[in-house]
Amino acid sequence: MTTPHVLIVGTGAAGAAAARRLATEREVRVTLVGDTEVTPYTRMLIKGIAFGSTPPELIALPLPEVDRLADSVTRIDPVDREAHLASGARLGYDALVIATGSRPRLLPDTLPGAQTAMEHGRVSPLHSLPDALRIRARLAWLGRPARVAIYGGGIIAAETASTLHDAGHTVLLIARSTVPGAAAFGAPVAERLVAAHQSRVHTYFGHTVSRVDAADPGVVVTLDDDRPLIADLLLLALGTLPAAPAPWAGGVDVDEHLRTGLPRHYAAGGVALHHDEALGAWRIDHWEDAVAQGTHAARVALHDLDLGDDPGPYLPRSPFLALVYGHAITGVGATVGATSLLETGDEFVVRHERGDSVIGVTGIDAVGTVAQWGPRLHAGTVTCDIAQAPLLGGGGG
Ligand SMILES: Cc1cc2nc3c(=O)[nH]c(=O)nc-3n(C[C@H](O)[C@H](O)[C@H](O)COP(=O)(O)OP(=O)(O)OC[C@H]3O[C@@H](n4cnc5c(N)ncnc54)[C@H](O)[C@@H]3O)c2cc1C
Repeated sequence: MTTPHVLIVGTGAAGAAAARRLATEREVRVTLVGDTEVTPYTRMLIKGIAFGSTPPELIALPLPEVDRLADSVTRIDPVDREAHLASGARLGYDALVIATGSRPRLLPDTLPGAQTAMEHGRVSPLHSLPDALRIRARLAWLGRPARVAIYGGGIIAAETASTLHDAGHTVLLIARSTVPGAAAFGAPVAERLVAAHQSRVHTYFGHTVSRVDAADPGVVVTLDDDRPLIADLLLLALGTLPAAPAPWAGGVDVDEHLRTGLPRHYAAGGVALHHDEALGAWRIDHWEDAVAQGTHAARVALHDLDLGDDPGPYLPRSPFLALVYGHAITGVGATVGATSLLETGDEFVVRHERGDSVIGVTGIDAVGTVAQWGPRLHAGTVTCDIAQAPLLGGGGG
């Protein structure tokens, strides 16, 4: 029998992790395809390039010893099991792991002035290494503390606001929600973050941007109440959308084993749209969770190739960490669902529950306590014995 060929598309957190898991298996041949002209890098570290002095080579992502191809996959033919590449080549496979991550949500094309302001470099997402280098160049070119407007309410918006504020820049933080971050960390943590933002940066919560105009030398950002905000740069931190090659239009639906429904086709990381009994429909776009999903998809592929045990269903247990105004905002697992507070002395810890299970935990300055929950999530019975703490109250997540 010929050695089965596993193709992994995407050289980010999930793809590299899948390749790492398979690299030591002698019974499979592995090819890792990463975008043309992209030297694989650790996406979450581009902040240090945009706002710090990190050299790009320092965030290169180490990859395992497998066959590598620098080419972009334009289309997958799941029936013939072939990947079509931008170079015109085709690559056959026996099993496929799609790990193509996500793309940034941008301003709508219809928003007046958006296209021109993007073209003039006055509006930028912070998602790729080229974005980070462009932002760094713009801040350096100003040669003075900048006025930076940030549009978005999640983790990247919060961290960016904090980093720029600490570096002496003036920050204008715009978010559609009156409690930005509630979707990312749950309402209790987000409510505390609102107060932290309001005491340090200019906040425009509960507002959207209705137009942007490139001005000399910056940008005028007009809010939905017609207020014009003048800034040197508008950074977009509006979250991400899953990005997969055709025939998938957006994300790739997967079941609890990260199987796509097509035999021996799997997806992992930011591109994967999960549907399972325990959590319903969910998507997590964090580094450690993408790593865990990539590893899991590789193990399921080995099992389906009769080369390994069934690893069971995938359930998110990975941690994330953001440093915001000197505080550690941490989470583990699925940080959605109904919330209840745990009283743990000086620490602020929130459990996220679905049914009778704790599915995620978030906290402020409670790194150790939150991390301890990872292995205990999804256990089926809500307990609060980690801190031996009473349940203080509940609220919508
Ligand atoms: C500014 C920023 C800060 C962040 N900070 C944190 C943080 O502090 N903590 C945290 O947990 N997460 C953070 N994240 C999120 C984290 O980086 C992502 O969740 C993680 O990278 C997702 O991994 P992935 O493998 O799914 O996708 P990626 O790491 O994005 O990898 C996808 C890869 O696929 C390649 N690719 C895409 N399409 C194709 C194609 N058609 N053909 C070939 N290759 C393709 C891409 O070039 C890329 O290399 C941050 C993200 C950003 C943008």
